[in-house]
Amino acid sequence: MKDVLDQEPGEPDEKPVALLQRYLARQGLKSTRQRALIVETFLAAPGHLDVDDLLARVRARSPRVSAATVYRTMKLLTACGLAHAQNFGDGHTRYESAFRREHHDHLVCTVCGTIVEFENDRIESLQDQVARRHGFLVRDHRLELYGLCADCQVRAPAERQ
Ligand SMILES: [Zn+2]
Ligand SMILES: [Zn+2]
Ligand SMILES: [Zn+2]
Repeated sequence: MKDVLDQEPGEPDEKPVALLQRYLARQGLKSTRQRALIVETFLAAPGHLDVDDLLARVRARSPRVSAATVYRTMKLLTACGLAHAQNFGDGHTRYESAFRREHHDHLVCTVCGTIVEFENDRIESLQDQVARRHGFLVRDHRLELYGLCADCQVRAPAERQ
């Protein structure tokens, strides 16, 4: 298999990678081509990935990348604000890009694992109201609704109560 890391590096116009590089430099950490590849792969992937999903995608491009490197890189990406780490109740940490993404919340199917994103202005402003009433300054929030997606309700009507 052709390894992308054996090729010349691409044009340095990937902003998120540059952002990570600045962060790494501040932390006294090296910016490696493996890390850059992981970041590019992650940002190009859809939705909410766990480390195994991401590792498979990265290895399709460069088979020698280890799970530990992917894991550490995702921790760094989360720390520098390019990724959100989220646990949707199944014990797996999933990551999604926080780069140029608007805020959104999630519906999580506990049977098939489907994750649906939604935004609702009324819910958002109600949350602000609640916070104000309690004199609370909100910096971030996550709203996750757990249950059965439409497909799983058809497949498993007994679970529907
Ligand atoms: Zn929200
Ligand atoms: Zn489902
Ligand atoms: Zn999402």
